[in-house]
Amino acid sequence: MNEDKCPKCGSEKLKYGSCEHTGMGQLYYPVDCEDCGFTGKQWYALMFSGFTDDKGNDIVAIVLKEGKDVVKVHDAIANALGETGET
Ligand SMILES: [Zn+2]
Repeated sequence: MNEDKCPKCGSEKLKYGSCEHTGMGQLYYPVDCEDCGFTGKQWYALMFSGFTDDKGNDIVAIVLKEGKDVVKVHDAIANALGETGET
C-alpha cells in the first residue's frame, strides 16, 4: 500500500489534517481523498531513535535496525564524541 495514495481509489489528491499522537507508539494523520470522498486515518508506528540534550546534541542511544542505519548511527556517535571532521 502506498502511503501517498488513497487506499480506496488510488488518487494522490489527499488532504491531510494535523498529526495526532496516541501516546502508544503510534500517530496518525486524518486524511480526506478529494477524488472519491474517502475519509480515514493514516497510521505511523513510532520507533525510538535516541536522545538529544537541550542543546540539540545527540546522546548515543540509537536502535540498530538490520544494519541499514549503521552509517547514521556511526555519524551520531561521531557527533556525540565531537568527531565531526571539524579539526
Ligand atoms: Zn480516493
